[in-house]
Amino acid sequence: MLPQAEINRVLYVTAHPDDVDFGAAGSAALFVDRGAEVTYLLVTDGDAGGNERTLDNTGMAELRRTEQRAAAKAVGVTDVRFLGYPDGQVVPSLELRRSIARVIRQVRPDLVVTHHPDRNYRFIAPSHPDHRAVGGAALDAVYPDARNPYAFPELLLEEGLEAWTVREVWLTGGPAPDHYVDVTDVIDRKLAALQSHVSQVAHVEGFAEGVKSRFAAWGEQAGFGPGRYAEAFQVVPTA
Ligand SMILES: [Zn+2]
Repeated sequence: MLPQAEINRVLYVTAHPDDVDFGAAGSAALFVDRGAEVTYLLVTDGDAGGNERTLDNTGMAELRRTEQRAAAKAVGVTDVRFLGYPDGQVVPSLELRRSIARVIRQVRPDLVVTHHPDRNYRFIAPSHPDHRAVGGAALDAVYPDARNPYAFPELLLEEGLEAWTVREVWLTGGPAPDHYVDVTDVIDRKLAALQSHVSQVAHVEGFAEGVKSRFAAWGEQAGFGPGRYAEAFQVVPTA
């Protein structure tokens, strides 16, 4: 694995507003605290989300962007970018790969954090089709697109974006995590980030307790001891 000291820029690539906060906002807070530059890239605006069942989602995209920016701020992240793909219709297209490769070349991250592209048969929520599509496209953007100057040559020729090699990827929501980050010291900031998604979570009874018990279970699985919280990842070396 990459030594912490060599992780200076981190790019999180997720499908919907709140995904990064459920899966990885604690680790983002820790990276920010260590002085790393952290960028969030959201593929959709989550415009098919929300609790109101009127089927009129006018304004939902803008609301969810605002909520995501507030959630990012709760863990110290200020660089939040949106690609604006329609929620619920994401496929790992060449166009999406190019969009993600563009941001990789702009941000030049040492580490990319994204969704696991495989279906998790133990627990269905992480395997939303948009998540799998974004995870697959992000991995393809890491290898080969971002590092190969002949992939999407217009990125170099028209936008001046040089090839960039991401050295490591962490996947969230997969069936077999092999790396746990102790987020106990920042669990309140992670919770504040999650609660910034008011349209998604304000109506959920016992939300804070539910979140804490989920991440306490990871803490236990990681062997961090009682009362510790953890986020779980599968590490992919990509250097
Ligand atoms: Zn999602």
